[in-house]
Amino acid sequence: MLIAGNWKMFKGPAETAQFCISLRERALPAGVEVVVCPPFVSLAVAVQLLAGTDIAVAAQNVHWEPEGAFTGEISAPMLRELGVYGAIVGHSERRQHFCETDDTVARRAHTALDAGLSVIACVGETEAERESGETEAVLRRQVSVLEWDEQLVVAYEPVWAIGTGKTATAELAQEAHALIKSLLPVPVLYGGSVKPENAGELLAQPDVDGALVGGASLDVESFVSICQAASR
Ligand code: PEP
Repeated sequence: MLIAGNWKMFKGPAETAQFCISLRERALPAGVEVVVCPPFVSLAVAVQLLAGTDIAVAAQNVHWEPEGAFTGEISAPMLRELGVYGAIVGHSERRQHFCETDDTVARRAHTALDAGLSVIACVGETEAERESGETEAVLRRQVSVLEWDEQLVVAYEPVWAIGTGKTATAELAQEAHALIKSLLPVPVLYGGSVKPENAGELLAQPDVDGALVGGASLDVESFVSICQAASR
């Protein structure tokens, strides 16, 4: 089981330090891999404060070139130099607001994996796509650009469930996860309004290998509760 907290554009270095100090004092369940994904400016402090613990630090994005004229971007070697363990790629907010495409997601994933980072690649259908019966086609398309790698994890995040409080039913999540795993045999995390109250049921599904948690990962107590749910 892997539980990753995507902090989005929340927590600068000072709040990150508070969170990490408090998280490392908590007893986290054995057998659950725990990852936090702070904004770029807070990665260094998180790496420093979580060094020597089993909690890993990942970035929320990574560029496909090692360096170059790409204003505002951060490369895989830069993240490696900081001691970061991995990166999220293709989050729906990046696809929606920053013109991320299947092609750029694939390039980001490929380069990051080559550089030795672990990757959480996000896929998922919009509400309109689900309503028009396109979920399977969308997932097939998004997964088809990814290549198997030992360090690759996919996160199934139905866009209509992200930050909305609407969660996929456990059955619906299981169905999507089984499809994704039939296309690419890698661990698949569920993401979309995961909270301490619904984590247990979602994580009990046979093809749900963990969770990518947004809002509920910003609070130490709720994040730890979700990690505990993953160990049951
Ligand atoms: C996310 O940002 O990946 C996410 C799933 O957000 P939330 O848990 O807030 O829906």
